[in-house]
Amino acid sequence: MRVAVVTVGDELLSGDTVDTNASWLCNRLDGRGVAIERITTVPDRIADIARVVNEHRAEYDAVIVTGGVGPTHDDVTMDGVAAAFGREVIPNEDAAAWIADHGDYAAADLTEGTTHLPAEARMLPNPEGVAPGAVVGNVYVLPGVPAEMKAMFETVAEEFEGDPTHVEEVRTSEPESALLDRIEAVREAYDVTIGSYPGEDVRLKVMAADAETAVEAAAWLRERVEQ
Ligand code: ATP
Ligand code: MG
Repeated sequence: MRVAVVTVGDELLSGDTVDTNASWLCNRLDGRGVAIERITTVPDRIADIARVVNEHRAEYDAVIVTGGVGPTHDDVTMDGVAAAFGREVIPNEDAAAWIADHGDYAAADLTEGTTHLPAEARMLPNPEGVAPGAVVGNVYVLPGVPAEMKAMFETVAEEFEGDPTHVEEVRTSEPESALLDRIEAVREAYDVTIGSYPGEDVRLKVMAADAETAVEAAAWLRERVEQ
């Protein structure tokens, strides 16, 4: 399964907020064996959201959009996603019913628009807040507040699956440039992909379709690099 992540918010583009939602989502999806092919950040602007969602929903199996789903005037994500499908944003009965059952709010007290979703959307309840999310076609719309985004993602996590990769890690004090011969050799000897991430030491990520291959290839490497 190939997925694109779209994060929405002027505050992400200005650097006021670090986009932890994208990295958290990518980590969860990667762990489920899903290939994340794009992370795109767009401003709180209907046309930009609609254009990117439209491109990505055609290109990928699913799109996850987060941010800007609240009822305040600067939250236009539902309008953008609806526009991408040529649909209206309309009051959603499931959202109103869920909030009436689970919130401390009477429907009449809610900010106008809280229960409005794109037409024919599947409503996603918000386990940590009020504003609901939505699934429209292959597009999943989640809130921006990290705790709400995570809790809502978990309710649909099983809809995202692929072939999990088995990962082993090897650390070495050798500089990255010195390791090229052994990286090439381990790739020839085993059916693995190697990621190389320099930091204080170099972290080699050994990835394989099955656990045995990953473990064997990592052991092979460990014997041949300086610890
Ligand atoms: P609300 O209903 O509270 O308005 P929302 O879904 O509209 O929620 P935003 O208004 O986009 O979400 O953001 C709410 C909060 O979550 C803000 O403090 C924002 O900085 C933070 N946030 C939004 N997107 C991200 C992100 N990608 N990574 C980390 N934090 C984020
Ligand atoms: Mg908001």
